[in-house]
Amino acid sequence: MGRRSRPAQGNGRGCVKEGGKGKSRGPATRAVEAGRRKQWTGAVVNPPIWRASTHLYADSADLAAGRPDEDGHFYYGRRGSPTQWALADALTQLEPGAAGTVLYPSGVSAISGALLAVLRAGDVLLVTDNAYEPSRMMARAVLADCGIETRFFDPLDTAGFAGQFCDRTKAVLFECPGSLTMEVGDVPAMAATAREKGAVSLIDNTWASALGFPALERGCDISIMSLTKHVGGHSDLMMGSASADEKFYRKLRHKSQALGVVVSPDDAALALRGLRTMPLRLERSTASALQIARWLTDQQQVAHVLCPLLPGAPGHALWQRDFTGGCGLFSFVLRGASPAQSAAFIDALELFGIGYSWGGFESLAIPFDPSRARSETPWPPAGWQQEDRHGIRLSIGLEDPADLIQDLHQALDAMGKL
Ligand SMILES: *Cc1c(COP(=O)(O)O)cnc(C)c1O
Repeated sequence: MGRRSRPAQGNGRGCVKEGGKGKSRGPATRAVEAGRRKQWTGAVVNPPIWRASTHLYADSADLAAGRPDEDGHFYYGRRGSPTQWALADALTQLEPGAAGTVLYPSGVSAISGALLAVLRAGDVLLVTDNAYEPSRMMARAVLADCGIETRFFDPLDTAGFAGQFCDRTKAVLFECPGSLTMEVGDVPAMAATAREKGAVSLIDNTWASALGFPALERGCDISIMSLTKHVGGHSDLMMGSASADEKFYRKLRHKSQALGVVVSPDDAALALRGLRTMPLRLERSTASALQIARWLTDQQQVAHVLCPLLPGAPGHALWQRDFTGGCGLFSFVLRGASPAQSAAFIDALELFGIGYSWGGFESLAIPFDPSRARSETPWPPAGWQQEDRHGIRLSIGLEDPADLIQDLHQALDAMGKL
């Protein structure tokens, strides 16, 4: 590359989708095509990994001309390079209605970064009571110190939602289905209420991704994902994203640049690799999860199966109405099990790893009891037997579902022998 060459100058709008191209194509085709601009990939299929902090300028005139405050112009590594722009661009193209995407070093960082972009001292934030626990923690650990007050709401109380707002309420954080307990709220109705009240709707859309829940089309303003889960897909990467229309993308980008948020080009390349197979992996894990959830409903040691994909399960009707896909993450509740029995079940599993995170190619199981974390919704929920409280969350991977069922079967048997 010559000293005077100006590599990888984009069209000035590096993270913005190309006008209408491929709009009507299916999700798998779009995942293959997304973000592969010729100016970034050159003659090869994927964008090279640009490990670069520094742009060398040819002379003073080049320096003076070389740092427009736009994407797609490499002037310093913190603004990203073609590797990160290609990933951001790809995510934008997969999110209907988005004008741009900001990348963050983790999903939690994406949530905090997006909230800080739209809130200021004196504002009130509403957070769904079944939010991912670190999202709840953020209220105390970060937002309170910035003078932002957080209140929690019951995601299933659509009728009472409007009553949650006061004149200082400026944003709502949704997550659907909720972490661990998988409630499906009426997000389109609640986001419409938020808009009427002048509040910004953010959604932690990690479970469904844009493929399963086109959040902006459903009335949300900012769609957030932990890319650590489905996009990475191989349990070797931490990253997050927030996608939005032009107005909110500008706010997200401005705040993230001011905070010094950047992701490594190596990780961006891994995320892009994961993205190409995401529709295929989601399709497979969704089908396996449904098969396994069906099997679990027939087991006498299981009191409840919390899987919106499953006909008849809580949230299924809204999932069917609002979602275009699912994933392999769901939960179930052991019938009247003691803590020792719940632990025995987990310990007897051979194929399922014991671990947090999800969305990888390998199946995982983790026990949960959300009763202490929630403030607006009881656990166990009203109407359940109080002794049915030991939850197990499964992340179904790409193994043969018959083998996973066999593993769950022998672990339930082992639990029964206690
Ligand atoms: C894992 C997770 C996050 C956080 O993502 P990290 O990349 O681990 O920081 C956020 N939301 C949900 C629903 C998650 O499951």
